[in-house]
Amino acid sequence: MKKDDRNMIFRQLPSVDYLLESSVIKGFLLTTPRILVLRAIHYVLDEVRERIVRAQTEDELPDLALRSLVDQIKKRIIILSQPSLRQVINATGVIVHTNLGRSLLAKRVISRFNALAGCYSNLEYDLKTGKRGSRYVHVEDILMELTGAEGAMVVNNNAAAVLITLDTIAKGKEVIISRGQLVEIGGSFRIPEVMKKSGARMFEVGTTNKTTISDYEAAIVSNTALLLKVHKSNFQTVGFTEEVPLEALVALGKKYSLPVMEDLGSGCFIDFSRYGLTKEPTVQDSVEKGADIITFSGDKMLGGPQCGIILGKKEIISAIKANQLARALRVDKLTILALQETLSLYRNEKKAIQQIPTLRMICQSYKSVCRKAKKLLDMIGKVGNGTLSISLCDGFSKVGGGAMPLEEIRSRLLCISPGKFSATYIANALSGYNPPIIVRLEKDQVFLDARTIQTKELKIVAEAIKILSAKSTIA
Ligand SMILES: *Cc1c(COP(=O)(O)O)cnc(C)c1O
Repeated sequence: MKKDDRNMIFRQLPSVDYLLESSVIKGFLLTTPRILVLRAIHYVLDEVRERIVRAQTEDELPDLALRSLVDQIKKRIIILSQPSLRQVINATGVIVHTNLGRSLLAKRVISRFNALAGCYSNLEYDLKTGKRGSRYVHVEDILMELTGAEGAMVVNNNAAAVLITLDTIAKGKEVIISRGQLVEIGGSFRIPEVMKKSGARMFEVGTTNKTTISDYEAAIVSNTALLLKVHKSNFQTVGFTEEVPLEALVALGKKYSLPVMEDLGSGCFIDFSRYGLTKEPTVQDSVEKGADIITFSGDKMLGGPQCGIILGKKEIISAIKANQLARALRVDKLTILALQETLSLYRNEKKAIQQIPTLRMICQSYKSVCRKAKKLLDMIGKVGNGTLSISLCDGFSKVGGGAMPLEEIRSRLLCISPGKFSATYIANALSGYNPPIIVRLEKDQVFLDARTIQTKELKIVAEAIKILSAKSTIA
């Protein structure tokens, strides 16, 4: 298209003021805040302008009729009035997906929300003495019971757990850590940066691929406060490598009367090797091996709410509780409630795996995922007139959340090959659906992993695909 033609089309676009004067929009203004209406108008005009710029042929030009614009503005107002945080369907196959909210809470946990969120509670009230109590008592005992630790404390997330622990034990002092464990977790959480914030000085030992116990020992000076081990979480070093096992670090700590801390990252209570996966070090292992302080997330492989759990020796936990930072990093009552209920499911491992969605998805057998995928395909049925080509194929799910980075869990996927629509178009259309469906886009194909689609969501996904395939043209 010629530049002059384009300019002429731009001139046909109505102004914001003109649109505000139209009777339909005036009608909206009676029920909708002016700022929302304005935002919707600007959004639609911007989008239309963009489409004019992109248009290669006259057919691809957007409809500039007032009715069409007003219609789009109306749709936009509806979208803008919805709460921004809403349900999405995770078809990516990444179970603990940080961008999609990590763990789903168990049904029992949610029903306790219903019972308690609208009531006063004994959050910090000792019912026996009638005096002020501690919010942490509600999860302390069960954490100690499940892990064998001497003491427990909970803060806002694992990053906070690492921060407050280092601030308590190592402020102005040195912390020895292996160069192979200076990890970035994502979302710019870097171990060295957190240490700096806590006022601890980091002393790196060893090399990227190899650190030995004598590297640690040689680095100990009078100002050393802590030996720190960090779970590598989202990467693995392979080949010519050596890492010091926790037991050896604990023995060295004993020799020099230094505490040993392990940041487990994901932290799990279940030995997944019993379910055909690689063995991740469990929290109980670390307690048993004698780590003085252990930190991990509540919403990664544990499958609970966002929080950071700190376990360890009584004196250290007491010192952490007394730290002024504890107030700034403290958890809300809903977090305590969700954590307490999630933890109580762990009293029975079988029940935990059945009822905690994160565990259920990790452990779901390939056969059972196949059945779910087949059900989805059946629900979609025969679609369209060749607009979409849909089949089932094998693939892999991931644990995610920086846990088991190399673990590939065999899974069954719905594969949509591009025909009339490109793979990107299909992925965008599905993420624009209500509720949005987030898929995997690989090698110019769209994949929906049945493992992370919840059973009650299958119908929604099938419906979305049917609607998409019924479209004969690109809207
Ligand atoms: C994920 C992770 C963290 C951060 O935990 P959040 O709960 O996201 O704050 C810290 N350390 C390690 C090793 C991790 O894997």
